[in-house]
Amino acid sequence: MNACKYGTHRVIEPKGVLPQAANKIDNDMTLRDNELLIDVMTLNIDSASFTQIKQACDGDTKRMEEMILEIVKNRGKMQNPVTGSGGMLIGRVRAMGPSFPDKSLREGTIIATLVSLSLTPLNINRIKHIDLATDQVQVDAKAILFESGIYAVVPDDLDEHLALAALDVAGAPAQVAKLVKPGDVVAIIGAAGKSGVLCAAQAKRSAGDAGKVIGVVNEKQQVSLLRDLGYCDDIVLADATDAMELYERVAAVAPTGVDVAINVVNVPNTEMGCILITKDDGVVYYFSMATSFTKAALGAEGVGKDVTMIIGNGYTKGHADLTLELIRSEAPLKQLFERLYT
Ligand code: NAP
Repeated sequence: MNACKYGTHRVIEPKGVLPQAANKIDNDMTLRDNELLIDVMTLNIDSASFTQIKQACDGDTKRMEEMILEIVKNRGKMQNPVTGSGGMLIGRVRAMGPSFPDKSLREGTIIATLVSLSLTPLNINRIKHIDLATDQVQVDAKAILFESGIYAVVPDDLDEHLALAALDVAGAPAQVAKLVKPGDVVAIIGAAGKSGVLCAAQAKRSAGDAGKVIGVVNEKQQVSLLRDLGYCDDIVLADATDAMELYERVAAVAPTGVDVAINVVNVPNTEMGCILITKDDGVVYYFSMATSFTKAALGAEGVGKDVTMIIGNGYTKGHADLTLELIRSEAPLKQLFERLYT
C-alpha cells in the first residue's frame, strides 16, 4: 500500500509533524509500496552532533556506541536530541517497493542518501567501528527512504567514504556558488573543516581574481593546511565564539567588512562574530547546525545590522553534482579528501 510520500505515516509522536520534527518515528523495516529499503554500511554523523556525542562521552568509543544505539532505540532515527541534527548514510539498495518512483535503481547499487538521518527510519543491529577522525560509523543496519527522499548513486571513480563525507555537506559549496558574485569579499568561518575547504574552493572560483577569500581558523596548524590548499587570499586565526576577536582580526584584512560570511563551524555561539564582520546589506549564510535563530535574529537587531541571514538548507538543486565535480577538478582538494577519508 502506498504511504505518505513525506513519511508522515511513520511519525509516532507528536502527531501532525513531519518525520524530521518528530521525537519518535516508526523504524519497523516493513517496506511500504513507495519506500526504499537500504542495507546500511556507514553513517556519517553530522559534525555538530558527533562533536557533542564525543564530548559527552570523553572520546570513549564504547560509550559513544552506547549513546548512538540509545538515541536510535528511543527515536527510531539517528537524531541527536541536543543538536537536533543527523547526518547521512551510504548503503546498498536492499529492496524497492513497486511504486518507488525511480525504476532505474537496482538491488545492490550503493547509494548515499541526501536527506538527513534526523528523519530517516533506522534500525541498527550492530555498530562495528567508530572513526573519531572522520565522524563515520561502520554499522550493520537497515534504513528506509521515503518516496520524496533524494539520494545519489555513489560514483565509480570516487571512494565511497570520500563521496559520503563530501555529500554530507554538499549544500554548503553549492550555496556558495549561488551567493558569491565576482568581486565579492567572502569570509569562511571554520575554513579548515570539511565544508570549509569545499566552500573556500568554490568561493575562489565564484569571487574570481577581483574578489577576496578570507579563511578563518582557530588553530595554528590549520593555517598551513589552508595555505597549502591555495584557495584563501588571507588566513585569519581567531576564535569564532569570541565575537570581538573575530571582528577585529577580520577587519584587519577587510576594513570595510565582507560581502558574504559563510559559517561552517561545529560549535555554538558564533552567530554574532559573523554579523559584525558583514557589511550592511551583506549576506550571512549559517550552514552550522549549532546556529541559534534567536541569537542571530536578536543579535543583529541589537547591533543595528541590516544583513540578510540565510538558514543553511542542506539541499539546493544540483548540489551533489557540483560538490563531487569540485573535488574531481581541484587536485589539492581531492588529495586532502583522499588523505582524510580513504
Ligand atoms: P568540521 O569538518 O568539523 O568543520 C568545522 C570546523 O570549525 C573545524 O575546522 C573546527 O576546527 C572549526 N571550529 C570549531 N570551533 C571553532 C571556533 N571556535 N572558531 C573557529 N573555528 C572553529 O564540520 P563540517 O562537517 O564541515 O560541518 C560544518 C557544520 O555544518 C557543522 O555545524 C555541521 O553540523 C553542519 N552541517 C550542516 C548541514 C546543513 O544541512 N545545514 C549539513 C551537514 C553539516 P577544529 O577542528 O579545531 O575544532
